[in-house]
Amino acid sequence: MNSAPPPDDLPFPDSLCHSCAAAIRYVRNDRGSIFLLCPIFRRYPPQPVLECEKYVPKEKEERPAE
Ligand code: SF4
Repeated sequence: MNSAPPPDDLPFPDSLCHSCAAAIRYVRNDRGSIFLLCPIFRRYPPQPVLECEKYVPKEKEERPAE
């Protein structure tokens, strides 16, 4: 499997992992399937993750005032 940047078409769009500060890793296998590797739990949690005791939302990027 290879690490990959977030794909354009995210699998499990309802998953909390996408917006988690833990910085989920997107791992694509040779068949093109994408798996979400959690650096906190060090495993692939069953998706979609709808509740997680370790979930912390990413801080939103602040845009400079125009
Ligand atoms: S801590 Fe929970 S919500 Fe965050 S990436 Fe890991 S499994 Fe997903």
